[in-house]
Amino acid sequence: MRCVFCRIVSGDERAVKVYEDELCLAIMDIAPVNRGHLLVIPKKHYETILEMPLKEASHIFGVACMLAKAVKRAVGAEGINIVQNNGRAAWQHVFHVHIHVIPRWIGDKLDLYWPASLSSFELLEEVASSIRRELEELKT
Ligand SMILES: [Zn+2]
Repeated sequence: MRCVFCRIVSGDERAVKVYEDELCLAIMDIAPVNRGHLLVIPKKHYETILEMPLKEASHIFGVACMLAKAVKRAVGAEGINIVQNNGRAAWQHVFHVHIHVIPRWIGDKLDLYWPASLSSFELLEEVASSIRRELEELKT
């Protein structure tokens, strides 16, 4: 059983298409949180961006940026959120990569709980050096 986005890509499931190229498709979200909410999906099935080749990931984020400009003008939004979730812990529900492009207005009801707290520079340096080490590993 193929996933819902794969069925949309193959035309076996209905969707309202906004944009299409050789690598990706943009469709209106069937359950929008705001007017103009759309999704950019790669045509090839990847569960998360962590499995995607960087070139394809870069492409779909570029398309999301282009669509953000178009949808902002089309619906007269005051702002745009780009939301992309990877893994159940990160609110992913459909396990085929998708980028949400969400028009925003001041005072709209969309909210995000963001429990930020200041960190020490020592702790930031510690995690940054781990990330830098991983980056070097990825390059080799
Ligand atoms: Zn899929």
